[in-house]
Amino acid sequence: MRQSTLFSPTLREAPSDAEVISHQLLLRSGFIRQLASGIYTYLPLGRRVLHKVERIIREEMDRAGAQEIGMPSMQPAELWTESGRYADYGPELIRLKDRHGRDFVLGPTHEEVVTALVGNETNSYRKLPIILYQLQTKFRDERRPRSGLLRGREFLMKDAYSFDTDWSGLEKSYELMYETYQKIFRRLGLNFRAVEADAGTIGGEGETHEFMALADIGEDTIVACTNCDYAANVEHFVKEGETVGLNGDHPCPRCAQGTLHELKGIEVGHVFKLGTRYSERLQATFADSCGIQKLLVMGCYGIGVSRILSAIVEQNHDDKGIIWPPAIAPYHVHVVPISTKDEVQMNLAEQVYQTLCKLGIEVLIDDRDERPGVKFTDSEMIGLPVQMVIGKQAAEGYVEYKDRSSKERKIMGVDEVVSDITKRFKPN
Ligand SMILES: [Zn+2]
Repeated sequence: MRQSTLFSPTLREAPSDAEVISHQLLLRSGFIRQLASGIYTYLPLGRRVLHKVERIIREEMDRAGAQEIGMPSMQPAELWTESGRYADYGPELIRLKDRHGRDFVLGPTHEEVVTALVGNETNSYRKLPIILYQLQTKFRDERRPRSGLLRGREFLMKDAYSFDTDWSGLEKSYELMYETYQKIFRRLGLNFRAVEADAGTIGGEGETHEFMALADIGEDTIVACTNCDYAANVEHFVKEGETVGLNGDHPCPRCAQGTLHELKGIEVGHVFKLGTRYSERLQATFADSCGIQKLLVMGCYGIGVSRILSAIVEQNHDDKGIIWPPAIAPYHVHVVPISTKDEVQMNLAEQVYQTLCKLGIEVLIDDRDERPGVKFTDSEMIGLPVQMVIGKQAAEGYVEYKDRSSKERKIMGVDEVVSDITKRFKPN
């Protein structure tokens, strides 16, 4: 991609209402723009990162045997009345009428739609278990949208729903999704903890876990053991009858050896054992091996896809800008010729660009006629894993190789750099 034609407007200063660093950096480096409070446009660089996050999620969900579907955002209110959530959900549920005066909602989640679907279409235990998922835009009318993509009113989610014949089946589906989530978040390069939690407005009868990306600006407080892998959302921990005042001095409820300490987290995933809460209210049943009608036993599993962008930037940045983990960086390599007026530099840059592109490496080349200072500032802010600076030594075939994460810089022969980059990023 040539930066001279890339639609990526950068800002010298972040808007004053952008309080957290991820919001500031995503705006300044041209990944997102705000349309209205809590509602954002993804610009080309942001959209590329989202695509990569989505791809990792799809690969792992498909590998686990889940099947992708696409459900509508606009849902008839009757379904929500049947489940009881039309009244319970409160003002965060966006409600609207069509021209005939019929009530609809814009879905914040899809338990009702998917339960009705599977209840209508799956009449036998032979078709179970099944796990369905989608990647879709959700709506929630937050009173105070804030922190950019972390708490928006329109956001992208991956939601999945499992349907089993009984609780032991649900246990297996839950375990499978729990493990799949660990794989997804590891591949995304997130520093995260799985914590015991409460079900909130989703409801449900069994255990639930949240996946928390650790970050100081996180809205959730976690208690975690110093000795074992016990961790819980503090709200859940307090409800379980434990007392607060948790930093140090409080023994772990699981191993009793370690003590608990507090961490802050951003919720990026949540898995629930719903049981029959929705299938009972919506009468979603199947026939068992004796022909007896039984309720579907369900689980649901969410990932906050757009929110992951912010969580990753919170965990991966410095005072100059974003440091994208290679797996989801919008491009792998930033080729930066210092002077567009220098023919030798431009020829070498162009040659490297063509070579890498042919090898399947994703390259952004800064072919803009800008001052070197502007180019370097933008390059650090955008934060691609490797920068290749082409300057005065281009005539001798030497370039500067900069690793954005380790900050390592070295002068190398251009062939050596190309070979290094190819080894690191060449698609399989
Ligand atoms: Zn412990």
